[in-house]
Amino acid sequence: MVAQVIDGKAFAAKVRAQVADQVAKLKEENGITPGLAVVLVGEDPASQVYVRSKGKMTVEVGMNSYEHKLDAETSEAELLALIDKLNTDPAVHGILVQLPLPKHLNEDLVINSIDPAKDVDGFHISNVGLLGTGQKSMVPCTPLGCLMMLRDHHGSLSGMDAVVIGRSNIVGKPMAQLLLGDSCTVTIAHSRTKDLPDVVRRADIVVAAVGRPEMVPGDWIKEGATVIDVGINRIERDGKTKLVGDVDYASAAERAGAITPVPGGVGPMTIACLLANTLTACCRANKLPEPEGLTA
Ligand code: NDP
Repeated sequence: MVAQVIDGKAFAAKVRAQVADQVAKLKEENGITPGLAVVLVGEDPASQVYVRSKGKMTVEVGMNSYEHKLDAETSEAELLALIDKLNTDPAVHGILVQLPLPKHLNEDLVINSIDPAKDVDGFHISNVGLLGTGQKSMVPCTPLGCLMMLRDHHGSLSGMDAVVIGRSNIVGKPMAQLLLGDSCTVTIAHSRTKDLPDVVRRADIVVAAVGRPEMVPGDWIKEGATVIDVGINRIERDGKTKLVGDVDYASAAERAGAITPVPGGVGPMTIACLLANTLTACCRANKLPEPEGLTA
């Protein structure tokens, strides 16, 4: 079997176009422009790149983008004061604090100081609890993007066996909750899992979120399974730097029914879902109907 490639880049463009349509409608019919505030503390080069591209895409879909760049020495009190201001600013519907934060700042404290209704990353403890109990929440962007691609490919996921490799708070755990919410039978695997190959071989859906280059070989994949590769790993090959996932794409694509490539799979969906979450937060804040197909 040669797998169908799930084109995350094209899918993300479709999601952004849907968001842009809804934003235009909100402006025209309600005079409201959704606003996303992104807070960056310090000069981490990767974070600077992410923040720049988030700002650019926010503006491209017609939303207002507010960038707050603070120096690496910013105190916790200063950062919390800024978040407090953004929490009460009616023009701001979504707040994202770019992680990781410099070591002297307490990430949990900072994230939990964001108004949960504006927490477009879905990391606030209230949103974690709401998602875990199947209630309306803000859903972390990367797992939401994976869910959208799976729903688009399969329609219903009900009854499917899903394995999520990785149990982080930002990807693995929320991914498992979302799959459970769609009535999959879910296994969460991690570094202590016994006989990981056997666990993965049972799965109709494999979501790999580990951070180990090409760790999952094709012969772990059940014939016809759907493989979602969240991993982004930079490796040196043939004297060149290359991005690879957590799945060995070449061998997995020979057995899977469908697979996301790296790059061009899950990655582009993450920012698209950030924009979708900002739109959702704006609709909820204004007691307007939520955009269809853009939430869990
Ligand atoms: P973390 O490092 O927080 O978590 C990694 C998980 O993998 C842990 O639960 C760990 O288990 C598990 N793990 C490590 N080694 C093994 C192993 N040998 N076998 C089984 N499980 C193992 O990573 P993240 O969840 O933050 O990210 C995972 C990957 O996804 C990274 O490559 C990251 O760059 C990428 N990513 C991509 C995004 C995108 O937009 N596409 C967004 C976010 C992340 P244990 O808990 O036991 O230590």
